[in-house]
Amino acid sequence: MDYEKILSSAIETIRSEGRYRTFADISRERGAFPRAQRHDAGDNARSITVWCSNDYLGMGQHPKVIEAMHNALDETGAGAGGTRNIGGTNHYHVLLEKELADLHQKESALLFTSGYISNEATLSTIAGLLPECVVFSDALNHASMIQGIRNSGAKKAIFRHNDVAHLEELLEAADPKAPKIIAFESVYSMDGDMAPIKAICDLADKYNAMTYLDEVHAVGMYGEQGGGVAERDGLADRITIIEGTLGKAYGVMGGYIASSQALVDVVRSCASGFIFTTALSPVLTAGVLASVRHLRGSSSERIQQQRRAAELKQRMRDAKLPVMPSESHIVPLFIGDPVLCKDVSDLLLNEFGIYVQPINYPTVAKGTERLRFTPGPLHDDNAMDSLINALSEVWQRLGLTRKIA
Ligand SMILES: *Cc1c(COP(=O)(O)O)cnc(C)c1O
Repeated sequence: MDYEKILSSAIETIRSEGRYRTFADISRERGAFPRAQRHDAGDNARSITVWCSNDYLGMGQHPKVIEAMHNALDETGAGAGGTRNIGGTNHYHVLLEKELADLHQKESALLFTSGYISNEATLSTIAGLLPECVVFSDALNHASMIQGIRNSGAKKAIFRHNDVAHLEELLEAADPKAPKIIAFESVYSMDGDMAPIKAICDLADKYNAMTYLDEVHAVGMYGEQGGGVAERDGLADRITIIEGTLGKAYGVMGGYIASSQALVDVVRSCASGFIFTTALSPVLTAGVLASVRHLRGSSSERIQQQRRAAELKQRMRDAKLPVMPSESHIVPLFIGDPVLCKDVSDLLLNEFGIYVQPINYPTVAKGTERLRFTPGPLHDDNAMDSLINALSEVWQRLGLTRKIA
C-alpha cells in the first residue's frame, strides 16, 4: 500500500478544483491593527492591511487586555497545569465563568478551549443524553455543531436555512413525546444574515423543544453589553443554551456556553471534549475577562464597527461591485468561481497589499465563492479608499461579474 501516493492524489484533486489552501504568513502589529507584516516564500516582509480578521473590534491589542495578560503571566506563569478537574482550575476561570453567566443572564457558564469544542462537546453530550432526542439543525449551521450532533448519535432533521415554515413542518412530523433541540446561529458568518430568533423560540415553546443558539459572530458586537443578538432583541431568557467564542470579537481564545445550572453541570461532568483536555491558560483567561468586562461597559467599538460596515457596503454598491445582501457587520463580495476567487485574492495581496482570504468550498457552496470583508472600528478612511480603488481596478482588469448569481 503506497500511503503517500493516496494522500498526494487527494491533494491533487483539491488542487484541480482550485481550492488548495495556502495560508498567508503574517505578523500582526500591536498598536497598528489592521496593519500587519506579510512574509513571502523568501521570508521578505511587506506591510499589508488585513480585511478578513475575526478580531472584529481590535480587542486583541486593547491596552486593558494586554495589561491583564501581562499581569496574569507574571502572577501565575504560563499554563493552567492540568485539566479543569485535576489541578487546572485557576481563579481566572471561575471569575470568567461568573462574568459570562451574568452577561447572558443565565445561572451558569462553562469555558472550553475553543468555540468549536464548546459546540461539539455540548451538543454531543446533551443530544446523546436525552433518550430518542431529535435535533433540528439549520442547513447552514457551522461544522462544529454538525459534528456535535453527529457524535451524539441522535436523530437529525435539517431545516432549510432560516425557514421557519419548514422547521415547523419537521417539528410537527416528529414524535410529540421525543425530546427536541433546535440548533441554529444568530449571525451566519459567510452571508452575514440573521436568524428569525423570536419565531424559532415561539416554535420551541409550541413543540416543547430546547433552543441552542450559536452567537459566535455576535457576542461582543450586539446588545447593550455585547451579549449578542438575543440580548439586543430581549430574547436571551427564551434561549436554553447560548454558545459563544472568546477568539473573535473578544480578541483572545476559547469558547463557552451559558445555560441553567443543571445543564452546565451535566456538560461539565460528562463531555469528553471538556473533561479530557488541559484548561485554558490563565494568561488567556485573564485577557478574555478584561475584554468581556470592557465591552460590557463600552459600546463605542461596536457602534463604530457598524458604521464602518454600512459605509463599506454603500461604497461597494456605488462602485458597482457585487456586494451580497447582509444584515450584519459582515460584507461578502460575490465572485462565484473558486479559481477566480483565489486569483483576485492573490492580486489584491501581491499588488495592493490588501489581504482578504478567498472563501471557497467547503466553507461555502460551490458556485458561491466570495471574498468576505470584516471592516472594523480601526479601518480608517485611507484604508477604505485604497480598498475600493484596488477592487475597482481588479474587477476591470479581470472582467469580473458585477451581478450576484
Ligand atoms: C468560528 C466559529 C466557531 C468556532 O469558534 P472558535 O472559537 O474559532 O473555535 C463556532 N461557530 C461558528 C458559527 C463559527 O464561525
